[in-house]
Amino acid sequence: MTSSSISDSQPKTRAWHTLEVDQSIEALDSDRDRGLTTQQVQERRERYGSNELEETGGRSTWQILLDQFTNIMLLMLIAVALISGVLDIVSMRSGNLKPGEIPFKDTIAILTIVILNGVLGYLQESRAEQALAALKKLSSPRVRLIRDNKPLEVASKDLVPGDIMLLEAGVQIAADGRLIEESNLQIRESALTGEAHAVSKQAPLHLPEDTSLGDRINLVFQGTEVVQGRAKVLVTNTGMQTELGQIARMLQAVESEPTPLQQRMTQLGNVLVSGSLALVALVVVGGLIRAGNFSPLQELLEISLSMAVAVVPEGLPAVITVTLALGTQRMVRRNALIRKLPAVETLGSVTTICSDKTGTLTQNKMVVQLVETASHTFRVTGEGYNPVGEFQVSDQTVAPDQHPELQTLMLACVICNDSILQHEKDEWQILGDPTEGALIVLAGKGGVDQQTTSSRMPRRQEFPFSSERKRMSVIVESAPSSVDNQQSQIQMFTKGSPELILERCTHLQINDKLEELTEAQCTQILDKNNEMAAKGLRVLGFSYKSLQNVPPEGSDEATEQQLVWLGLVGMLDAARPEVRLAVAECRDAGILPVMITGDHQLTASAIAQELGISKPGDRVLTGKELAKMSQAELEQQVEQVSIYARVAPEHKLRIVQAFQSRGRFVAMTGDGVNDAPALKQADIGIAMGITGTDVSKEASDMVLMDDNFATIVHAVEEGRVVYTNIRRFIKYILGSNIGEVLTIAAAPLMGLGGVPLTPLQILWMNLVTDGLPALALAVEPPEPDVMRRPPFSPRESIFARGLGSYMVRIGIIFAIITIALMWWAFQYTHAPGYIAAGRDPDTWKTMVFTTLCIAQMGHALAVRSNSQLTIELNPFTNLFLLGAVTITTILQLLLIYVPPLRDFFNLHYLTLQELGICIGFSALMFVWVEMEKLFIRFFKK
Ligand code: ADP
Ligand code: MG
Repeated sequence: MTSSSISDSQPKTRAWHTLEVDQSIEALDSDRDRGLTTQQVQERRERYGSNELEETGGRSTWQILLDQFTNIMLLMLIAVALISGVLDIVSMRSGNLKPGEIPFKDTIAILTIVILNGVLGYLQESRAEQALAALKKLSSPRVRLIRDNKPLEVASKDLVPGDIMLLEAGVQIAADGRLIEESNLQIRESALTGEAHAVSKQAPLHLPEDTSLGDRINLVFQGTEVVQGRAKVLVTNTGMQTELGQIARMLQAVESEPTPLQQRMTQLGNVLVSGSLALVALVVVGGLIRAGNFSPLQELLEISLSMAVAVVPEGLPAVITVTLALGTQRMVRRNALIRKLPAVETLGSVTTICSDKTGTLTQNKMVVQLVETASHTFRVTGEGYNPVGEFQVSDQTVAPDQHPELQTLMLACVICNDSILQHEKDEWQILGDPTEGALIVLAGKGGVDQQTTSSRMPRRQEFPFSSERKRMSVIVESAPSSVDNQQSQIQMFTKGSPELILERCTHLQINDKLEELTEAQCTQILDKNNEMAAKGLRVLGFSYKSLQNVPPEGSDEATEQQLVWLGLVGMLDAARPEVRLAVAECRDAGILPVMITGDHQLTASAIAQELGISKPGDRVLTGKELAKMSQAELEQQVEQVSIYARVAPEHKLRIVQAFQSRGRFVAMTGDGVNDAPALKQADIGIAMGITGTDVSKEASDMVLMDDNFATIVHAVEEGRVVYTNIRRFIKYILGSNIGEVLTIAAAPLMGLGGVPLTPLQILWMNLVTDGLPALALAVEPPEPDVMRRPPFSPRESIFARGLGSYMVRIGIIFAIITIALMWWAFQYTHAPGYIAAGRDPDTWKTMVFTTLCIAQMGHALAVRSNSQLTIELNPFTNLFLLGAVTITTILQLLLIYVPPLRDFFNLHYLTLQELGICIGFSALMFVWVEMEKLFIRFFKK
């Protein structure tokens, strides 16, 4: 698949864990600060190939192929083919073969269909697996690295040995590497070692040669996940040369669990097969009793075979394949990437969408608007990420360097920050978290530059941000100044959720003095915080502290105490305009939209109200309250709350479970590492394509390529369309199958000699005259009310909501019409004058065949809508159907009027009058379905 097989020269054999950092870098001719040059990268891409794993599927090709034939309907067809072959042999032996008859025609035809169906099923499954793999690649991780002395992001397949890769929490590591430096690095290596607990990694070590894989804590491995912390890594091996590549069998194949649809099809198959076997028994016994002896046994056997072929919807698998493929494609076009196939079918059943706020409901383009220090409120002007703007106090522009506390706060903004502001192609961009980006922009407006600051005050330690901690700290050491003989100074800057930061503060900075923080001041700050949050601003609190020495890793609780309060920063993250509409659409569609956010309850509430997710006065449940509740209490209340604020990822899991215990079918978004359990638990786990971590994507069923809530609603709509169309053509196809079976069964019971339909004719009907229109029904445009009705249960049976009774009812009507025609045609073709005119008395069979086929055309036109009459529908909204009906009718006429085809299908010539009578009877079918609609309409009134 990739050119990675040429990478034999990759430095695989080296025991990287035994080397010092510098030795490793030297060995790969790299540079820890500047990275590789563009030219080096090019050479290495050619030499080592691209960084991809060769996918080895789970089931073998043969296994997938064999699995196709475990289907009960195909097994029955195989049995039919064999029995029919035996009957042919018997006729040949006894010299009963009709003149011109090709022996084994039915056997061959049936076996061909069986094989075709098997191959098709196989192609579908392997294609689906490939398509999914390709889709997964679309969402494939990007890697942050340093090349040419610049930070940048590339697709993981573009990594080469020697690259300097940057890791952070949530990343799935794209290649094997040697740690250069790290901070608090915790890695989950379960993909490789099976060990579920995260491992702490350390850069400075070098280890003995025989250290086992799990203990090589100075290395990182492809496919493992960064749970916490950050690191700079020298890429040592890529592609198939990584540890994971070496044990390719560990690679998880694309999962292929039976989808709800497959389960429904199995159920359908069982019902059809057992139903038809019962009917066969009835016909055989009835036929024998009627004759009073065993003479009609062979004919009854032939009838049974025809019935068995008639009941199996041979064309259905193909139609379903096409429908699902089209559905997935339509979803991708609307920015929803399906990672697990069942999602296509079940999306339409979603009753609850739990969505993050930041980035999904909002634009995630943060701009700081207000800064509140102990002495002033600063209004900040400027747009976007362009670091140009003014600070105003009471509408007067002020110089930021006149305000020492503002200076310290801006210092905190750039130091306590893991993101980068870049100017590229005339545009200011954030590499990293937009919240942090906004802070760099703020500092830039005030004249504090990130790069100069960080080189003056290098980072010595950090306590990283997590959604549980809701804060982060960075410890820096400023270089000793030779001018005033100053000692080096160690400082910690902390930012995070204001309430949490304030709790840890004992002092506050006013101008350049420190004061003890009073109760009253605390209240005042919290009031300000609420005031800003109520406007929908995302508010962060800032503080700092001087330290004696660099605190050890993991000592966050002890160190983040007795801080000095600096102030509040409020940033605007505007709601996405299209989400308002999407939320309204959800309500119409009977779907409950729920906001789950780590942000402040008032911020959440303001945005939720703006979007129509909640009304003023609606209840907000906070993570704190949630933590105190038992799961039973939560289940009691979960459906009354549409905003969850200040929650941690573990609460998300509880919320999904509570909703599910109320019988709801939940879609849940998530982006962080710790969201993975909630995403897996949700019925539809949704990851963010842009801001989502690799780990969350891996756990998801669907990825939003644009991170947009509205996209979820679009995907739900497509899911509903897919499911409605599947039900529509199942109705269509099976109604006809039941009609065929009953018609065939009726013939011997009515004492008509001979089998009305041969297996070959039935295969033609089930594949061609049912198949083509059914394909066209699969692309039927959405009904106007798809998103104006409540969702259907994903666990409902295929026969639910009237589909089963429709099939039986229509099947019976179908049969009544054709049986009536059959009765009349039999008499007509057996009249003495008919035979005397040189016509074949078997012509009645051709009339039955023709009526069944043409009646299905009327059914196809009428079945488009459950409620609207065909004349009320615009025929041009489904041109495919018009085309399919026309083509199928022409094909049918060709069978009757082209002599070789006619002979092959054992048909007889029909006069125009006879054809007219068939069409007349067929039209009754259309009329009946339309009458039903009128009837239902009348009764609804
Ligand atoms: P959400 O994305 O739903 O707003 P998060 O869990 O990302 O929730 O953030 C929760 C809270 O943590 C935020 O409201 C904010 O107060 C704080 N926070 C967010 N990002 C950072 C960060 N990079 N550093 C410090 N604190 C942060
Ligand atoms: Mg967030």
